[in-house]
Amino acid sequence: MSKLHIYNTLTKQKEEFKPIQDDHVGMYVCGPTVYSYVHLGNCRTFTSFDMVYRYLLYLGYKVRYVRNITDVGHLESDADQGEDKIAKKARLEQLEPMEIVQRYTVDFRNVMRQLNAHPPNIEPTATGHLIEQIQMVQEILDKGFAYESNGSVYFDVEKYNESHGYGELSGRKIEDLIAGSRELDGQEEKRSPLDFAIWKKASPEHIMRWPSPWSDGFPGWHLECSAMSTKYLGETFDIHGGGMDLKFPHHECEIAQGCAATGHKPVKYWMHTNMLTLNGKKMSKSTGNTLSPAELFSGENDKLEKGYSPSVVRFFMMQAHYSSELDFSSDAISASEKGFIKLMTAYGVLLKLETSSQSSKNVQEMVDSFYDAMNDDFNTPILIANLFETTKYINSVHVGTETISKEDLELLQKEFRGFVFDVLGLVNETESDNSKMDEVMALLMEIRAESRAKKDFATSDLIRDKLQEAGITIKDSKEGTTWTF
Ligand code: AMP
Ligand code: ZN
Repeated sequence: MSKLHIYNTLTKQKEEFKPIQDDHVGMYVCGPTVYSYVHLGNCRTFTSFDMVYRYLLYLGYKVRYVRNITDVGHLESDADQGEDKIAKKARLEQLEPMEIVQRYTVDFRNVMRQLNAHPPNIEPTATGHLIEQIQMVQEILDKGFAYESNGSVYFDVEKYNESHGYGELSGRKIEDLIAGSRELDGQEEKRSPLDFAIWKKASPEHIMRWPSPWSDGFPGWHLECSAMSTKYLGETFDIHGGGMDLKFPHHECEIAQGCAATGHKPVKYWMHTNMLTLNGKKMSKSTGNTLSPAELFSGENDKLEKGYSPSVVRFFMMQAHYSSELDFSSDAISASEKGFIKLMTAYGVLLKLETSSQSSKNVQEMVDSFYDAMNDDFNTPILIANLFETTKYINSVHVGTETISKEDLELLQKEFRGFVFDVLGLVNETESDNSKMDEVMALLMEIRAESRAKKDFATSDLIRDKLQEAGITIKDSKEGTTWTF
């Protein structure tokens, strides 16, 4: 059977995956900056890494999956300028920064749960790791790759470049970066415009601040991921992921910080996901070109004719390779829904097939094709194509034009189920094996129908809204009310 290969964005080639320590894998994914609701683009990146995590588990690896929550330090521009995104939102809404953090962290976890993503093994926050970050700043200072200036500490990019070479991940050359950089207006504390803050002195009005040897201030955004990944995964770990927009400067700076502090490269395999676009443009919080998961699940958006279940949304994402751009459209998701139903129907048929003394096709080869697709840099669209190819055989066995042996049927059921549900993370929403749930829902629907009949819309809306929060959508039509997860 083939072996897992990963496209490493650092070396720009597919490499056989060999974990640093036997069958243990350390994986770090940059998490969200929790100053607003996540959009579908963010979800694509996190769902892609959920798929990677799931496949590593499926192969039998013991994975420690760390995904942080950025709750301080992410400024409005990458150039150490502007306000902290969370502090700004808190000021505008007259709330505590931690209220902002809590609201959007809860929303993020809720959405990822709806999309059937496994929670990470560790979900550290930047504000919970100030001591580690201050220590790392000190280490970088001690090694001579940073300098203090007016209470802030800056990473000395040119000095680092002399001994280590800066820009290997993004392919940017320091000469070009210098030529392309603007004057140091307002940033005279820096020796070079390329230098970035690893500790920033807080201005008097800045609310998020902590004491440090240099000033009352806050850590730089790039530093938090270096400090937390080192703490939980060690100085060099296996996989680091994020969206490709994080390659520069965020991940480039992480490499520099790691090498400067510990003397060796922090990551063996760098993975970057491509963007989800809407109308051909990147979905982005800052431009407002977004679609929220809640809108997509409920269908309450002008761009949509109806709502789609989280599993259909997940299937839509899995139909593209994680490193390819994916454009969202109502037609595309509607086509995915048809494909999803076809796959679930085939699974239902597979469970009920009758066996013969022999198989008329090579089932082991079909199963190998599932592994081959995923071993080729997690190629989910090829996996799905191979699953569909297998459904033709399943249907032929069902109508009696092909045969399958008992042994092969057990193998195919196990692996088909494994790849569809464990690896792709889909949920068979048409299958309701929970009769108690049906009973409870029937009762709720009855209460809701009665309150509507009495024009008690407060109660009927409350039932609908609370169910929506729990991930259950109800639809009213002339025929009555139906519900889906
Ligand atoms: P942020 O909260 O903005 O730091 O983003 C969280 C994650 O979502 C990062 O890994 C981003 O690279 C990723 N991301 C942002 N926009 C998109 C998009 N349109 N498509 C895919 N991933 C995205
Ligand atoms: Zn990060």
